[in-house]
Parts: sequence; C-alpha cells; structure tokens
Amino acid sequence: MRLLLIGAPGAGKGTQAERIAQRFGLVHISSGDLLREHVARGTELGQTASEYMNKGDLVPDELVLTMLREPVIAAAEAGGYVLDGFPRNVGQAMEAYDIAKPLGVAVQVAVYLEVARESLIDRIVERGKTSGRADDTREVVEHRIAVYEESTWPLLDYYREREQLLQVDGDLPVDEVTDSVLAQLERVRATL
Ligand code: AMP
Repeated sequence: MRLLLIGAPGAGKGTQAERIAQRFGLVHISSGDLLREHVARGTELGQTASEYMNKGDLVPDELVLTMLREPVIAAAEAGGYVLDGFPRNVGQAMEAYDIAKPLGVAVQVAVYLEVARESLIDRIVERGKTSGRADDTREVVEHRIAVYEESTWPLLDYYREREQLLQVDGDLPVDEVTDSVLAQLERVRATL
C-alpha cells in the first residue's frame, strides 16, 4: 500500500504515520525528518534547507524531490510507504506523480488529519519544549500554519479529485485517531 498523510503542523502526522507503517508493514518516510538529518550532517542540501526551515518556509520543491526520489522508490519495492510531510503543495504532488506513475510507485490513498486551528499552536509550543526544533516556537509556528493553509490545503481538492481521500478527526484522543485511520485503511486496502 502506498499512502500519504496531509495535516497541519502539529496535527499528529508523525505519530499516526509511525503506527500505520507498523500495522501494514510499510516504510515511514518523513520529509521533515530527512531534511533535519541533512541539516544535522551539514550536507549541502541541509545547509540550503535550514535557511527555509528556520523561518517556517517551504524548502524549494527540487531539493525535496531529489532527496525523496530514491527512498520512495526503494520503499515501494519493499512493500509500500507512508509519506509524512510530502507533498506540501500541488506542484510537488504533480511532479511526484510524473516521476512515480511510470515506475508504478505512485500514491494510492491520501489521509487527511483534520485538526482545529486553535489546537495546533498549543500542541506545537508544548512539543517545542522537548523536540529541540528551532521551528517549534510560537512565532514560527504561526507562519508554518499560514504556509500550510495557503500551499498545502489545495492538496485536499487535488487528491479528492484524483485518488481516494480519507478524512479523520484529528482532534480525537490519539488512540482513537489511530483506530479510525486503521479501520478506514483496512477497508480501502481491500479495494486496491
Ligand atoms: P515537518 O517536520 O513536516 O513539520 O517539516 C519541517 C520543515 O521542513 C517545514 O517547515 C519545511 O521547511 C520543511 N519541509 C518538510 N517537508 C517539506 C516539503 N515536502 N516541501 C518543502 N519543505 C518541506
């Protein structure tokens, strides 16, 4: 199974992606984690990316696509993937499709984790106390949410029209969110 998660910063994508991956034997690929690894290793890509990440802006599409190409293809061959944090805009989704479709590794299902705007900022500021992430601060978070609303939201219509879009109430307690996502994915898997 090949799927992706869409949700605002702080919506719980990472947690749910991990659980989905475990249940279905998929590889969890987080674009944010991979970018942070590049930053930590001080690679050229990481140095460029960190300038955008620290401000809460999106890293240029080409960098992200280049970074993800091999891991995504490898994961698809190993049984499937859960993409967490990619795509972030319709341009990325279209480019990824053009690359992945001919290889037979394009996404089949998009899962939207819907969380009320009011919950997000508090969740992230709380996470920031232990995450050590430079972008988990109140100022940067507000900008990240604005970027999400402007650039990432249009993906919902994009996937609604093209693939199966599942929707989950991400304001529920975390285990209930997981139960709901897994139950919906079980049903979808039977139709793939
Ligand atoms: P995340 O861990 O998903 O919240 O991502 C942290 C930061 O990494 C974002 O604020 C962006 O700066 C960058 N990033 C992660 N994924 C992408 C992506 N698909 N496209 C562009 N930038 C990204």
